[in-house]
Amino acid sequence: MMDFSERFPYFGAVLSNRAKGIDIMIKTSEKPAPKAGIAHNRVLLKMSGEVLMGEKEFGLDSKTLNRVARDIKQVIDMGVEVCVSVGAGNIFRGVSGAAEGMDRTQADYMGMLGIVINALALQSALEQLNVDTRVMSAIPMSAICEPYIRRKAMRHMEKGRVVIFAAGTGNPYFTSDTTAALRASEMNCDAILKGTKVDGVYTADPNKDPSAKRFDQITYMDVLTKDLRVMDATAVSLARENDIPIIIFNVRQEGNFAQVMTGKGTFTTVSGK
Ligand code: UDP
Repeated sequence: MMDFSERFPYFGAVLSNRAKGIDIMIKTSEKPAPKAGIAHNRVLLKMSGEVLMGEKEFGLDSKTLNRVARDIKQVIDMGVEVCVSVGAGNIFRGVSGAAEGMDRTQADYMGMLGIVINALALQSALEQLNVDTRVMSAIPMSAICEPYIRRKAMRHMEKGRVVIFAAGTGNPYFTSDTTAALRASEMNCDAILKGTKVDGVYTADPNKDPSAKRFDQITYMDVLTKDLRVMDATAVSLARENDIPIIIFNVRQEGNFAQVMTGKGTFTTVSGK
């Protein structure tokens, strides 16, 4: 009769190595090898819902969605692994619902559903460019997308698929910024790229104060203590704890995402240094 290690050679090897006192580590989340001329190998792109509404007052703008999709494709084609966290400010924010008397938790779930709408719209735009994409929701919705499972998400990214995280963290009282920092930590991302309307962090609002100066670099602590609001404080703290730089750049200009990936263009890096 076959013994255990003959029937299950893998476990057999583990057991015999254990017997010899050798520890085996099974790595499921190795970072990809660095590529020449590219600053980061695996990144998370965070975009607020407002970015996706373009010049509109509400909802989604298909031109903007298509442009963002082209930007993401450009970076994927460079060999970078990309995942995305979108917000829902273009549809619904929990705090606004709560301000109008709605139960906050209920309102936040509505916000999370708004994120699902944006994620599906972005998936559609990416698929039109033949970019393999998976939407993974923190709140299971098996009829329309995959549930978020960390190891599966990692595998999708390793295969060059764009993973879009939907429904935020799945918990009320959080934001899509915090989702970005959480998922970037879980995915072992090298950086969080926060795509905004401006090209970095300024000493004051550059639209109101022409003498405002842009920082090339700033520390997490400065962002927190000076209350610079580039990302919510929970998100900045989480990124700080996991030492993931946050790069603030203007996502409204086509090609900027790729530029930042090569270390060119204008942006501000928030890090520990
Ligand atoms: N939300 C939530 N938990 C999360 C992420 C988001 O409850 O983990 C809800 C919350 O109501 C929030 C809304 O979803 O207002 C949309 O997210 P956010 O305000 O971050 O969108 P953005 O400002 O980035 O467009």
